[in-house]
Amino acid sequence: MDKLTELEKLKMEMARDKNLPLQESNLVFGEGNPDCQVLFIGEAPGFNEDREKRPFVGRAGQLLRKCIRDLGWQEKDVYITNIVKRRPPENRDPNPEEIESYQSYLTRQIEIINPKIIVPLGRFSMNYFLPLAKITRDQGKLFNTEKYFILPMLHPAAALRGNEAMKMFDETFKKLPAALLKISTEETEQVEQDESVAKSKKFEDVQSKLF
Ligand code: URA
Repeated sequence: MDKLTELEKLKMEMARDKNLPLQESNLVFGEGNPDCQVLFIGEAPGFNEDREKRPFVGRAGQLLRKCIRDLGWQEKDVYITNIVKRRPPENRDPNPEEIESYQSYLTRQIEIINPKIIVPLGRFSMNYFLPLAKITRDQGKLFNTEKYFILPMLHPAAALRGNEAMKMFDETFKKLPAALLKISTEETEQVEQDESVAKSKKFEDVQSKLF
């Protein structure tokens, strides 16, 4: 089965799952290229996303999508989704139970896509992958967990709130192509050195020295 079909099946399964919280809002599954190298993961849909059933289509989304295009990439080349796939009322933060309820679906979605790098947007998404990380301290650093390379960024909505945050967001965004290159090179070197060496680096040891 190809990735698109697998994702479609997963989406249908989620739509049928009435045990998932926030049933009063629409399912916003995610969109983009299932064969992408870069997977952006936000927090939860807001008002506009719920209405259009698409992730990141409001003001924050416009900023995210502009930054993607400014790199010379196309929006359709990446994949964009959220950890929680339905809108919490009044755009409140998703609570731990909601995040946990959607966890197994997100895990399967990531496994199908199998990106080279995951970009969590904001602290909720970052802490999902890196529970000990702090957003202002650790955004912009490249981490290698046992499964994925992670480059956390500020949430674009936070970037819209002030010049300092916007500068930080912008600078980190521009690191993405170099991070991808570094990952690809590391992967090649590792295969060349010893095909049988499994990657099992720990969170603490592996923060990239590239930046
Ligand atoms: N904020 C998010 O975290 N996700 C969206 O899809 C929109 C806004």
